[in-house]
Amino acid sequence: MNHNKGNVFIISAASGTGKTTLVSRLCANPDNRIRVSVSHTTRAPRAGETDGEHYYFVSKETFMDLVGQGAFLEHAEVFGNYYGTGMAGVEDLCNQGFDVILEIDIQGAEQVRRLLPDAVSVFILPPSLAELGERLRRRDTDSAEVVAHRLLKAEQEIQQAFIFDFVVENKDLEQAERDLLHIFKAHRFSQKQQRKTIEKVLQNH
Ligand code: 5GP
Repeated sequence: MNHNKGNVFIISAASGTGKTTLVSRLCANPDNRIRVSVSHTTRAPRAGETDGEHYYFVSKETFMDLVGQGAFLEHAEVFGNYYGTGMAGVEDLCNQGFDVILEIDIQGAEQVRRLLPDAVSVFILPPSLAELGERLRRRDTDSAEVVAHRLLKAEQEIQQAFIFDFVVENKDLEQAERDLLHIFKAHRFSQKQQRKTIEKVLQNH
């Protein structure tokens, strides 16, 4: 194996912050060597969402079977639906040398932080709550009632930003993408990630 093992990055944000767009942009560039973990969910697919690409869309029964089998690194109920991160997929990508993004909610982030203390956590902030409300309404995929509920939840979630390792404000998409990439790159130079390089230099005399 001539590459270092990839690391796990938790990325959380209130819904509507642009987290999914940011994550897909980071993963779209193969030079970044970043992949996103595809979660399982019991929520119905939205227009344009594909099974196996955006989520694995499963029934509640299948989801609970997977919970029973211990297949999830973490799982949580969000807005009345279940979401979970499959353990095997994450391990496989890390072993291939990719940094793996878990695009998950705060409850999931807490579970992963306990299980994987080396995971890096990043919280994405909207420019303001007013702007977030606008974005949610423009998205128009959810009813007014759901939007109001998400906005209320957003405020509580943003209060949790204090417990994350890094915080990036998504005011300008391209700037936020650059800021995020710096976090990934800087982490690759941490001493723990560079152990193989140190050993290689020490052996070569
Ligand atoms: P959405 O239904 O809008 O795609 O996602 C709703 C929320 O669920 C978002 O905050 C998203 O990050 C979170 N989520 C998506 N996948 C997972 C997962 O596997 N685990 C957890 N805990 N949350 C997830």
